Amino acid sequence: MKVYKETSIPARSVRTLAATLCDICNEDIDALERELNESGWFSSEVEVSLKEGYFYPEGGYGHEYSVDICRNCFLELIVPWLREHGVKVEKKDWDTY
Ligand SMILES: [Zn+2]
Repeated sequence: MKVYKETSIPARSVRTLAATLCDICNEDIDALERELNESGWFSSEVEVSLKEGYFYPEGGYGHEYSVDICRNCFLELIVPWLREHGVKVEKKDWDTY
């Protein structure tokens, strides 16, 4: 025979990501993606970060700089700024077929 007892499990709160806001214009990056993704197959991703530190076989440490930037700010602000400062920004086609 199994004997059961009642056990109270207290509620807990969990921190989950609700939105990613652009650090420049403060727009919701995920909402912008959904707006552009009418077909269900469109996707864009902007990554600007630096991760540096010491990496050993058993682990490592360091720090990372990162910003969240929407595609509009990347295309309308960052790319022109880079070009104004002499940086060659390449636009390349890609496919995975
Ligand atoms: Zn933005």
